[in-house]
Amino acid sequence: MTVAGEARQAEALLPTALQLTVVVAAYNEAQTLPLLHPRIQSALAAVPGLHGRVLYVDDGSSDATWQVLQSLAAADPQVALLRLSRNFGKEVALTAGLDQVTQGAALILDADGQDPPELLGQFVALWQQGYDNVHGTRIARDGEGWLKRATAAGFYRVIGRLSHTPIPADTGDYRLLSPRALAALRQLRERQRFMKGLFGWVGFRHVALPYRREPRMAGDSKFGLWKLWNFALDGVTGFSTAPLRVATYLGLATAGLAFGFAIWVVGKALLFGDRVAGWPTMMAVILLLGGVQLIALGLIGEYLGRLYEEAKQRPLYLIDSWLPGQAGTVPGK
Ligand code: UDP
Ligand code: MG
Repeated sequence: MTVAGEARQAEALLPTALQLTVVVAAYNEAQTLPLLHPRIQSALAAVPGLHGRVLYVDDGSSDATWQVLQSLAAADPQVALLRLSRNFGKEVALTAGLDQVTQGAALILDADGQDPPELLGQFVALWQQGYDNVHGTRIARDGEGWLKRATAAGFYRVIGRLSHTPIPADTGDYRLLSPRALAALRQLRERQRFMKGLFGWVGFRHVALPYRREPRMAGDSKFGLWKLWNFALDGVTGFSTAPLRVATYLGLATAGLAFGFAIWVVGKALLFGDRVAGWPTMMAVILLLGGVQLIALGLIGEYLGRLYEEAKQRPLYLIDSWLPGQAGTVPGK
């Protein structure tokens, strides 16, 4: 091997040990990004020997986010940018970012400063101790209302019961993934992406890093209650078929009750004659059965709809532009 070749090989071996890409999905975060970036920069600089870079994914923002990102990239060679062709949602934006991290580990961070970048050193330290999935677990959620906390707590309880995939409670996307966890994650190409579940599915060595979730630095949350509800539905249907089984049991129970009721009605008519009464009971039974059937149909529809999304085999996302240009990457597959 040539000297240059050897040097290249040594370089490829050495920095991989401590190569880290901070992946930030940003949707209309023009206000927060200029505040966040210096914090990430100093957190990266504080870890000795770390080769850090920051990859911002603009998830089809409609404000000045892309301009802000471009000026950050112009001023800092550590910054790489990716812009999606439209707003695909946080889960897909993160996927797009993680797809680009082919060397070293990745740290996922929210753009609004709720996940303090200052903890970066602790994440890296745990990774160096051999953990593949260092996930930030919220011990406090400053600046989140009681409704969001209560629904979040309820959601983690439900999904914990229903799903066989371990999904740690109070754990968001703030986490570090080792190269092999990343490689594994890249193989999961399902359309309906519930990242917390996918991270759990991958397995390997997990460890929790407790932290205080701070309030947003500026701007508003993009996740209203309705969006969160749909997100929860995606989580449950993506990681459990228990609701389908519930529908089966509901059907069985109703059929059992209906059978008992039928015996009682027929018996009564045989013993005491049939005096064409009982309109209210009949209505009640019809409505109840109709309702139960619709619920079961709706449940099946939820799964069928998701199957349909999978069957279309569309790319997960499309890239509008990326900086610096990386030839040879096949985006979005
Ligand atoms: N985000 C995104 N695409 C979206 C919505 C949100 O990339 O369609 C990003 C957003 O810019 C932020 C992160 O996801 O970096 C979390 O969003 P947000 O702070 O609104 O959610 P919350 O913290 O309130 O759950
Ligand atoms: Mg936030």
